[in-house]
Amino acid sequence: MLTLPLYYSKKQTMIQLLTGKIILVTGASRGIGRSIALEMARNGASVAFTYLSSQEKAMALQNELTAMGVKAKAYQSDAANFEQTQALVSAVLADFGQLDVVVNNAGITRDGLLLRMSEAHWQEVLNTNLTSCFNLAKACTPSMLKAKSGSIINIASVVGIKGNAGQANYAASKAGIIGFSKSLALELGSRNIRCNVVAPGFIETEMTESLDAKVIAEWSKSIPLKRAGKPEEVAKACVFLASDMSSYITGQVLQVCGGILT
Ligand code: NAP
Repeated sequence: MLTLPLYYSKKQTMIQLLTGKIILVTGASRGIGRSIALEMARNGASVAFTYLSSQEKAMALQNELTAMGVKAKAYQSDAANFEQTQALVSAVLADFGQLDVVVNNAGITRDGLLLRMSEAHWQEVLNTNLTSCFNLAKACTPSMLKAKSGSIINIASVVGIKGNAGQANYAASKAGIIGFSKSLALELGSRNIRCNVVAPGFIETEMTESLDAKVIAEWSKSIPLKRAGKPEEVAKACVFLASDMSSYITGQVLQVCGGILT
């Protein structure tokens, strides 16, 4: 008997995993967030997404998503700001009618050894990477509780599991995301709201392109798959956690890292 790949029907057309779902992705003007928005749309979802300052890139993505035949809208919103996040979710609910999946992707680095790390750089990273997850969870859970359904996906990093010299602020924020997400999974599971973490390894984006070539070569050597990851490879893991394919999965950390922590 002919066995077909999981995502393809007999006519070899892609089966869309997210038809009818409304997704909100933060920080989607570039990098991994942009890929998440595109991959969600490819799977039939309507996509609301945010950016901080890259308005042109955000508008280009909005047009690209719309051209794919899904409803899409860009919102300028600072993920670190509680009030802006409340206003964002109200606007998305008004524009789209419901919110099935949120992906906390917005993140920054302000690297430096502890001795040289300023309090401002500590605070900035914690606010943008970790407090943002609190802000969005607070804003989106009331409507998810009413709907008795939802999937919250928080983007951490393997650095939050292993630590990294020169990234104490970033590693702390990403480790915090894991504890926060596991707690939400425990609190919200009985209401059919799932909360999972995706922990990428070394992924080729603007965040990593400023790294020294030697550092990149060293990292690549230690990755079992012997290469950096692509944003779309992280995005595909998010599609899985957003979809009903993962309906019995909550409180988990899915490492998308080429096996680097193995
Ligand atoms: P990136 O290329 O630097 O893109 C960051 C995105 O976040 C941009 O769209 C940016 O918007 C947005 N953003 C930054 N601060 C924001 C704020 N306060 N409010 C709203 N949006 C904000 O980063 P990336 O590499 O795609 O990383 C995405 C996520 O994956 C981050 O959480 C990062 O920590 C995580 N991650 C990345 C890697 C990697 O190797 N790249 C590895 C592990 C984890 P603007 O363009 O408007 O500034």
